Amino acid sequence: MFYDLRCGNERTLVVGGGPAGSACAWRLAAAGRPVILAEKENMPRRKVCGGILSSRAAAFLTGSGMVTAEEMDGLTLRTHLTISFWDRGEHLRTYTAPGRPVRIVPRAGFDAFLLERAASCGADVRTGCRVESFSDPRTAVTGSGERLRFTHLVGADGCVSMVRRLISGRRSRKTGMGLHYDIPMEDFPSPPVDLEVHFGRIPYGYIWVIPGRESVNLGAGALGSPASPSDIVKALGRFMEEKDLHAGDHELHGAPIPSLNLDRSLGKGKVYLAGDAAGTVDQVSGEGIGQALESGMMAADCISAGDRREEVLAAPGSCLESVRQSVFYRHLLHGRLTRGTAMRAIRDSEVFAEAYWDIISGNGSYSGIFLRVFS
Ligand SMILES: Cc1cc2nc3c(=O)[nH]c(=O)nc-3n(C[C@H](O)[C@H](O)[C@H](O)COP(=O)(O)OP(=O)(O)OC[C@H]3O[C@@H](n4cnc5c(N)ncnc54)[C@H](O)[C@@H]3O)c2cc1C
Repeated sequence: MFYDLRCGNERTLVVGGGPAGSACAWRLAAAGRPVILAEKENMPRRKVCGGILSSRAAAFLTGSGMVTAEEMDGLTLRTHLTISFWDRGEHLRTYTAPGRPVRIVPRAGFDAFLLERAASCGADVRTGCRVESFSDPRTAVTGSGERLRFTHLVGADGCVSMVRRLISGRRSRKTGMGLHYDIPMEDFPSPPVDLEVHFGRIPYGYIWVIPGRESVNLGAGALGSPASPSDIVKALGRFMEEKDLHAGDHELHGAPIPSLNLDRSLGKGKVYLAGDAAGTVDQVSGEGIGQALESGMMAADCISAGDRREEVLAAPGSCLESVRQSVFYRHLLHGRLTRGTAMRAIRDSEVFAEAYWDIISGNGSYSGIFLRVFS
């Protein structure tokens, strides 16, 4: 077996080839460190997602060197600058941002591209390779019975992470839920042009309308909500009826979303967590791609820094800080005592609408937004 001499006998096993795993493997490979990535699916694989990529995430990808600006544009289906806000059917406001777009990316192709980028940089990428179990603390066993030895383990294996279960000893019960339909443009009596957010239809959640190039992603998500998946499906069904759409004509896709379970130290010891496995989803917007990329590279940087987590994770302005802050703002937006004020604020003040846009487009921190809104 070949090991890079500069790294002694070090070898990292990354479990999962979504954005978190690919970013982590790419960063390690780019630093000349031996890394193997196991992804259980063959790529491209379907991923339940709205496909929104914030400008912060796009800038992070190009700034890190993983993707060029031209490639980023090639991966983008379309961009949006305008969003309309609704509360229980009432139109609150339409806001157009001056030049801070969000992108819509096709998740299957986007994820496959990033994984390929990690492979071309030197990561040993195995697709169709499920990590089933661990025979000892340094050996993973795959579905085909192969044993993969490692010195460092990165769990980038999504919301229902087996690696997280391994280090915490229990399955995380804190998950939210997201469901969506992909509806061809021509099925809409009047096709939507801009992003739409509909509050007040699901506790601690919202319905979204995300126009892509040829279809519209119409979905709903709830984080830390008392709403069950069937409540969300019913809310979506009612919404679609109002739009003269028939839910039964379209396929429903759903997946859990991490909720209120951020692991701020990204694992422990030589076992790291990244992306959904670490609970890095923003609790206001539900954005998780950008945070998966950032936390994946942070895990890689911790390994490269000789497991000195504190140095890497304490960096100001990290996604870990903003996910932690988002928990508070989620309560302001959806809490029983504050949601009315929040809705009126969006309706009556451009500053609040702008602040919400800054959250979904990833421009600015929660603390910066707070100062702007209350100054
Ligand atoms: C309905 C919905 C809509 C969303 N919309 C958006 C959006 O518009 N914008 C946004 O930024 N975020 C969105 N998110 C969140 C976003 O999809 C996730 O946060 C993001 O995919 C996290 O990336 P990840 O790499 O951590 O995990 P994943 O993308 O889930 O990747 C994990 C990978 O691990 C693999 N895996 C799992 N177990 C094993 C194993 N044992 N062995 C090998 N491989 C394994 C899986 O096959 C998978 O490919 C949405 C989520 C949902 C549910």
